[in-house]
Amino acid sequence: MSTYTVRYEQVGHKNLPCPGCGKKIRRQRTFTGTISPYNKDPETGLPRTRQQIHEHLHKVAGAWQAKPEMHTDCERAAIAARTTPTPSTSP
Ligand SMILES: [Zn+2]
Repeated sequence: MSTYTVRYEQVGHKNLPCPGCGKKIRRQRTFTGTISPYNKDPETGLPRTRQQIHEHLHKVAGAWQAKPEMHTDCERAAIAARTTPTPSTSP
């Protein structure tokens, strides 16, 4: 019985505005999937096909591309704003 592993890559790009400052952020990320006897489809119990891997990578990359990201500084500021208790105005 032959075992084989094939690796597939999909590069995702995103260019979305930062929710903190509104400036666009560019990100690139590589998603990988493998065809192997261990990467099985839970529905059929058979190893995933090339097409299934492609669809999966496409879905994962698409979800990542749709999700906005913040600059590290903007994120830090947002966290600080969230955790800093607002000064009480009541006497
Ligand atoms: Zn920002």
